[in-house]
Amino acid sequence: MVLRMTVGLALTAIALAVAGRRLWWLKRLAFSGQPAPERVAAVRAHPGRDVETQATEVIGQRKLLKWSVPGAAHAATFWGFIVLLLTIIEAYGNLFSRTFAIPGIGHWAFIGFIEDLFAVGVLAGIATFTVIRLRNNPSREGRKSRFFGSHTRAAWVVLGMIFLVIATLLLYRGAQINTGVFPYKHGAFASEIVGHWLHPLGTGVNSVLEVVFLLGQIAVVMAFAVIVVYSKHLHIALAPLNVLFSRRPNALGPLEPMRSNGKVLDFEEADPDTDVFGLGKIEDFTWKGLLDMATCTECGRCQSQCPAWATGKPLSPKQVILDLRDHAFAKAPYLLAASDDEREKLPDDVKKEAERPLVGKDGGVIDPDVIWSCTNCGACVEECPVDIEHIDHIDGMRRHQVLIESAFPVEAAGMLRNLENKGDPWGMGEMRRAEWITELDFEIPVVDGTIDPEIEYLFWVGCAGALEDRAKKTTKAIATLLHTAGVKFAVLGPAETCTGDPARRIGNEFVFSMLAQQNVETLNEAGAKKVVASCPHCFNTISREYPQLGGNYEVIHHTQLLARLVAEGRLQPVTAVEEKLTYHDPCFLGRHNKVYTPPREILDAVPGVEATEMHRCKERGFCCGAGGARMWMEERIGKRINTERIEEALALEPDTISTACPYCLVMLGDPCRLLGPSGPLL
Ligand code: SF4
Ligand code: SF4
Repeated sequence: MVLRMTVGLALTAIALAVAGRRLWWLKRLAFSGQPAPERVAAVRAHPGRDVETQATEVIGQRKLLKWSVPGAAHAATFWGFIVLLLTIIEAYGNLFSRTFAIPGIGHWAFIGFIEDLFAVGVLAGIATFTVIRLRNNPSREGRKSRFFGSHTRAAWVVLGMIFLVIATLLLYRGAQINTGVFPYKHGAFASEIVGHWLHPLGTGVNSVLEVVFLLGQIAVVMAFAVIVVYSKHLHIALAPLNVLFSRRPNALGPLEPMRSNGKVLDFEEADPDTDVFGLGKIEDFTWKGLLDMATCTECGRCQSQCPAWATGKPLSPKQVILDLRDHAFAKAPYLLAASDDEREKLPDDVKKEAERPLVGKDGGVIDPDVIWSCTNCGACVEECPVDIEHIDHIDGMRRHQVLIESAFPVEAAGMLRNLENKGDPWGMGEMRRAEWITELDFEIPVVDGTIDPEIEYLFWVGCAGALEDRAKKTTKAIATLLHTAGVKFAVLGPAETCTGDPARRIGNEFVFSMLAQQNVETLNEAGAKKVVASCPHCFNTISREYPQLGGNYEVIHHTQLLARLVAEGRLQPVTAVEEKLTYHDPCFLGRHNKVYTPPREILDAVPGVEATEMHRCKERGFCCGAGGARMWMEERIGKRINTERIEEALALEPDTISTACPYCLVMLGDPCRLLGPSGPLL
């Protein structure tokens, strides 16, 4: 008894010391980053919401279960380990007393049954993971495998360790049954089966096996605890924390304002020597950013949904997080050194790592082509089961490149110049913004001063909607429908300017602030309350980003308003359109703002329309390639994203491809036009 107690406790003490040291190191590393007081404040402000999030995301495994087979396997393993905490209590109790039982419930057959049920569930889970990993073997499947780039060897070690946890558990419980000290008379069906196998060995051998496998169980659990904190399985400990401090409801929709030292950066007062301008080095990430890196499970769900990765570009959202993590860990001794003297004494490889540029072609941690390939489509954020905020990190690096290094795709310079000087990406100027109004046969009030109280909506037309020929047709159609339905609306005309979305997404927060402040001033002076936007990017910026600058309005997308007018009978589609049609979800309407149903309701209301869905639709919709200011950059690497999307649509042989965004209209319209008269309409 003394021997088993001594060995068990010694193993535990050593393992906890090693794991604790690592956790302390990780904590120090995380806090070497920038502060993020807004994350703590958000948690304090909404404790109820966070309990609900933990219940659905962590305990409920909501995102994981969207992938039915791997999700069910993960849920079985996760829930299994929660239930098996009871068996760990029992194992430690058995170190002190062979007949130990958990006080109160320790003899209930139900508890014995549940423990065994989940032990078997974990075995089924790891068997499923084994099959999934064999079928998705990156050395065979290449980039198609979501595990491409993941540390697969470590994953196999962990699967083996989980198997050993369950195997030693069932073996020592089986031996306990044969020696007569097992606390459950009935219910523990799997332990009984193992006990049955061990029974022929006799009581003496079973007594030895009981001790050997009990100590084996404790040794394996403790070894697992150490492996967890040194591997990607750190997510077991960090995922609840990362989910707790993530942006709510998620890191989609608005970009956060630029922050430095925990405060929103004021460009007029910012000091280049002391302030942080975007993410220029690993220590510019906040502790939440560093927590993201340590939490990544390397599951590759983000990578599997990324349009840039799918079309052969160097960007994988998973690899971005892993490269940042590897760099943070390698640079850690430098970051954690107490003084310059201590830094001087560090090994050369650490000093070399510390000198690597975060973004750079030669020897940079992240290749510039990686950050400029991102369309900000949000598929990665949507999929990530531990709520990692990829877009914030990618756009944070873009901000530093643009504002400090002046390094960005040269072809986007014209767009930024036009935004600064003319207020629209094409440089057409404000006087052209009202031209489309003159092409209609009814009057549209243009706001001059304040909005007439009779006017219900301010129609935010957007640069494309006012200036780009194809988008102008949509603008005129929306205006005509609103007029037909008797909706009172007005436009800003020349007083409208770009919302700043392309500037913000490319990383030029300075130009974004300038444009956004101007628009917020205009809207506030006009007394705007309800805004209807036709462009999903304008919709996202005005509704979700302008509140950061004091612009608070009730903003609706035109498809939401039109669907409501149809539902209320104020608009009634009468002309039959005998066509097969498929709808493409714009990322900034769908994934970023969860508007999936209204556009489909409108299509369903049109007589004759046969609506079909593409394989990748709604929250799994595939980007057109234009978001994240990619609209103004050349696509030189890999297959064009819009070609990939159009091919998917064409496989359905539609007469028309429909969408609700002027960017998508251009991106998907161009390849359709190339197909000539035989191609679908857009
Ligand atoms: S936002 Fe879209 S393009 Fe960018 S990394 Fe994520 S999935 Fe890829
Ligand atoms: S970032 Fe999220 S989705 Fe991507 S590999 Fe890591 S845990 Fe998985």
